[in-house]
Amino acid sequence: MREYTSDEYIRMDKEKLFQEINNNIKNCTKCRLCKTATNPVPGEGNISSKIIFIGEAPGYYEDVSGRPFVGRAGKLLESSLQEIGYKREEVWIGNVIKHRPPENREPLPDEIAACKPYLDLQLETISPIMVVTLGRYAMNYFYPQGKISVDRGNLIKLKDYYIYPVYHPAAALRSYNMLQDFKTDFMKIPEMLQRAERLLASGDKGEESRIPDQDIDGQLGLGL
Ligand code: URA
Repeated sequence: MREYTSDEYIRMDKEKLFQEINNNIKNCTKCRLCKTATNPVPGEGNISSKIIFIGEAPGYYEDVSGRPFVGRAGKLLESSLQEIGYKREEVWIGNVIKHRPPENREPLPDEIAACKPYLDLQLETISPIMVVTLGRYAMNYFYPQGKISVDRGNLIKLKDYYIYPVYHPAAALRSYNMLQDFKTDFMKIPEMLQRAERLLASGDKGEESRIPDQDIDGQLGLGL
């Protein structure tokens, strides 16, 4: 029998757990959305990634394919990832809501609540350092008091990881100014991930807080 490293064992467990979560999502009937959706969209990518991307809910193309961010917004996400040196499959990409709301309407509070255990479990299993939230819904899922126009481009500390809110790529495709902001924020992702990693390693177990750039630099003496 082949000898496995402990990392390989942990990964096997994670994969099994993930399959279970995905099976539960596929069979989920906890809200009305499963009745109108074509396919569930559990999320996809590298479940060992330090950085994950969370959107709102599947749209038309996601519903047809069962994959997150494969329409126009997905193409912008993918090309932006490439610009910062990531292939799509190197990170994990998911959504707050796993079934498409009819006509892409906004998810209702009871639908968000019904889906919450899935994303919570996915997060716990992946255990990322930084969650890039795409748009207002994803940001407010993690940080209900946040305001996207104020908090975008800032690192926000939650219990065991950081979130980094950016505009939704679909919103960026509708407005030139938002596209510029989206691109600026996206280019800062590698630097923000490094900062989040160093802050976590330095034992930052503080309460939930928004971290202005100067504080991070002052605290760590990084001079970034
Ligand atoms: N918009 C989202 O929020 N998620 C997707 O998967 C696609 C578009």
